[in-house]
Amino acid sequence: MTRPLIVAIDGPAGAGKSTVSKLLARRLDFTLVDTGAIYRCVALKAGRQGLAYDDDARLEKVLDGLTVSFHVEGDVNHVFLEGEDVSEAIRTPENSLAASQVSSRPIVRARLLDLQRRLALAAKHGAILEGRDIGTVVFPDADVKVFLFANPEIRARRRFEELFQKGSEKPIGQVLAEQNRRDREDSEREVAPLKAAPDAVQLDSTELPLSEVVQRIEDLVLSRRRA
Ligand code: C5P
Repeated sequence: MTRPLIVAIDGPAGAGKSTVSKLLARRLDFTLVDTGAIYRCVALKAGRQGLAYDDDARLEKVLDGLTVSFHVEGDVNHVFLEGEDVSEAIRTPENSLAASQVSSRPIVRARLLDLQRRLALAAKHGAILEGRDIGTVVFPDADVKVFLFANPEIRARRRFEELFQKGSEKPIGQVLAEQNRRDREDSEREVAPLKAAPDAVQLDSTELPLSEVVQRIEDLVLSRRRA
C-alpha cells in the first residue's frame, strides 16, 4: 500500500503555520494534523488534574488514556480531547506555556510519536503536519519539508491582534515576552528541539504574505507529486 504524501511544516509560534496549514489542507484536500494541539491537550489534561508538568510518572497516566481527534468545520479546526471540544481551552496563554513544559519531557514526546504518525498515515490523499519536529523526528522522510519563520516582533504583533480580537487586553510587550520564553524553551530542550531539518525549504513570512507562502508550498507539493 502506498503511503499518503506527507507535508511537514515546522517553525516557531506565530510564524503563520496554522493559517497556512489550514488553507493548504483545504486546497489540496489533505488531512491536517496540528501536533501542537496534541501537546496542548496533554498539558490541559495534566493541569486539570493538578499535576506538576515534570511529574513523568503521572504524565504517563495522562498519556495512557489520551484520545485526541480533529474535526474541520469552515475555518476552524476543532480539537477534541476525549470527546470534549477543547479548541478554546487549549489556547489560553497559561496552557500555551504548560504545553511547552510538558513537551520538553522525553516520555511525553516518545509516547506521542505513534499517535502523530497514525493520524497522518490514516489520511486519504495526503497529510499536512504542523509542529516543531515533524521534519526532523516525526517524519524525517516527509515528501515536502518547510521551515516557516518570521522575526519575533512581527510574530508577537500577529498574536497580539488575535488575542485583542478575542477581547484580551494583554500588552504587546507581555505577548512578546511570553513568546520569547516559549521560543527559548522549545529551542533549548534536549529532545527534539525546534530546528529546521537540513533538507527543509526555509520560508520567511516577515515580508512574504501568507497567501504567497501557501502558494509556494502548494507548488512544492505539486512538483513532488509529479516526480
Ligand atoms: O504549535 P503550538 O504553538 O500550538 O504548540 C504548542 C507547544 O507544543 C509548543 O510551544 C511546543 O512546546 C510544543 N510542540 C512541540 N512539538 C511539536 C508541536 C508543538 O514540542 N511538534
